Amino acid sequence: MKDKRIISLKNPNLRKIRNEMRELLILARNTKRGKIRSEMKEISSNEEGDSIPMDELTPSQLKRFRELQRLESKNKDIGRKSICLCYNCGKSDLDMYYNYPYRAWFCVECVNFLKSAHSKMRAKKIRGEYTCDPNDEFGQSFL
Ligand SMILES: [Zn+2]
Repeated sequence: MKDKRIISLKNPNLRKIRNEMRELLILARNTKRGKIRSEMKEISSNEEGDSIPMDELTPSQLKRFRELQRLESKNKDIGRKSICLCYNCGKSDLDMYYNYPYRAWFCVECVNFLKSAHSKMRAKKIRGEYTCDPNDEFGQSFL
């Protein structure tokens, strides 16, 4: 995949279909995430619903709990870095821009804002008005 790429749809009907497909994928991800979290809670809670300390779980319970943690983390990353959601703001209904250095998609609104903010910070830094060190790596990744 190219370093930087915008996936843009002009046709309102195609936008609607795209947005509905994204919502469906997000819903499926959230459902799976809910099942994972529910099983984690079931393993790590006693019958009264109180938390069981990790060192009191059986080895098989602990092994399963760790598997579920890995699954949840992977699922979270897939969701956050997919084209379905903006990595920065979480919107799902806009054209998306792929930022290779971060291996993530950002909505066009965030990209425009981040580009503008980075340019303003750079100009202030050049004029000596900005004494903090801006996160150049992140801002420059959008230029
Ligand atoms: Zn965004």
